[in-house]
Amino acid sequence: MSRLRARCPSCRTLTAVAVGPEYQCHSCGAEFAAGLVRVPRAWGTGGEAMAAAAWLDLPYPEAGVIEEESLHEQTLALAVGLPERPLVLGGCCCSHVGAVEGLARRTDRLAVVWIDAHGDLNTPASSPSGNAWGMPLRMLLDGGAVRAEDVALVAARNLGMEGVGLEISEEYIALAKSRLSPSGNRVSYSERRNA
Ligand SMILES: [Zn+2]
Repeated sequence: MSRLRARCPSCRTLTAVAVGPEYQCHSCGAEFAAGLVRVPRAWGTGGEAMAAAAWLDLPYPEAGVIEEESLHEQTLALAVGLPERPLVLGGCCCSHVGAVEGLARRTDRLAVVWIDAHGDLNTPASSPSGNAWGMPLRMLLDGGAVRAEDVALVAARNLGMEGVGLEISEEYIALAKSRLSPSGNRVSYSERRNA
């Protein structure tokens, strides 16, 4: 994947080039604020619809498509090939792992706003389903790409962490819960709209 070339969403040619953090199409002159990376993979059982959603038509130049045979390879490829200002479209939440790791390499300290119905904090030991898409935020925290105190978990209905494997993230879960809402452990769209 090249950071310099991308497919222009306006004229569909492969001539969009990076201009600083932005893209400009050499063919039609259109400018774009981000480069789109598609990750049409879902790491779990029955995720075909999620994987297909990575092909959603969006008005950003396509800077790359990551299709690797393992999540580890996907994460490496994504982190290395991330555009200057990336818009990463999965797939499943595991596409955030490579995106955050790539961004974390560019800065001393990274903040992450994780907008998700679940906490994505499971480990293989704690996950009821074994689906890796329930674990990506935990991978990032345990791997050190981002610190727990630099993560805001927004819109989580539940943290999805019944069972074992809580020992490392108990402190993080307390932090996350304190951010779910001022009154409890649930923030809904309507509550936020009325706030
Ligand atoms: Zn164009």
